[in-house]
Amino acid sequence: MAAPNSSKRHVLILGGTAEAAALAEALDADLGARVDITTSLAGRTRAPRALPGHVRTGGFGGAGGLAQFLTANRVSVLVDATHPFAAEISANAAAASAVSGVPRLVLGRPEWVPRADDNWHFFDTCAAAAFALPRFGRRAFLTIGAQEIEAFAPLADMWFLVRLIERPTTPLALCDYKVVAGRGPFSEDQERKLMTERRIDVLVSKASGGAATAAKLDAARQLGLPVVMIRRPPAPEGPTVYDVGAAVDWVRDRLAS
Ligand code: NAP
Repeated sequence: MAAPNSSKRHVLILGGTAEAAALAEALDADLGARVDITTSLAGRTRAPRALPGHVRTGGFGGAGGLAQFLTANRVSVLVDATHPFAAEISANAAAASAVSGVPRLVLGRPEWVPRADDNWHFFDTCAAAAFALPRFGRRAFLTIGAQEIEAFAPLADMWFLVRLIERPTTPLALCDYKVVAGRGPFSEDQERKLMTERRIDVLVSKASGGAATAAKLDAARQLGLPVVMIRRPPAPEGPTVYDVGAAVDWVRDRLAS
């Protein structure tokens, strides 16, 4: 955490994504001499990647707790660089910014756009996707993260290859599965090899967007596989950029004003 008596300005990044890590690195390189950088993590990952600057971990206690944190730690600007599916923390960031007056930027991820030769099927929730999944295949590559896997638990006749950042410490709520641990980015070759070796016949993905995990979609297209895609929640409102360089510019401008 930034020292309370530091004369430097303080930037808080709400993180847990590759973009947040890249932003911390870019801010450190560009403004590190005059800015304290803190990245906030929810604490879902046991061994998060190394980050420059300060790292704090765990919830703030809702929007009110985050607003208090901003004030108590003399935060000058807030960047919400969380995952597009992390809707609660993004809503809290918007509310805390409004209450505290600390300017907020959203560092978003560009949406994936299906091509004419893609075979994507969209669903609003993991539960709806799970209900429909047996229509598309029997051996699914499940790439939705750890939190909502239970939605697929009723599918006793399906086999799952589950990709997670870290190996789980307790069994997953699935009947028949194998875990493959790994943090992106992955190449199209790696993805195609994995899906071929495991005889995957359907890919399940959140519509997360961005480049780091898009290769699985290219591989699915190459292999002619259907993709069951879970739609994003509504994007947070307010100023939004889609690349780290633009976020650095925004922070620099805000600190100058
Ligand atoms: P969420 O549902 O929006 O947030 C639930 C609660 O977790 C928040 O209200 C907040 O607790 C706490 N929290 C979330 N992100 C935080 C952060 N960066 N720093 C401090 N507290 C945080 O979020 P989620 O979907 O569980 O995602 C948690 C984290 O994992 C996020 O940082 C996100 O960027 C990352 N992530 C999520 C996904 C995904 O698919 N959802 C995928 C990849 C990475 P309080 O209300 O107590 O402050």
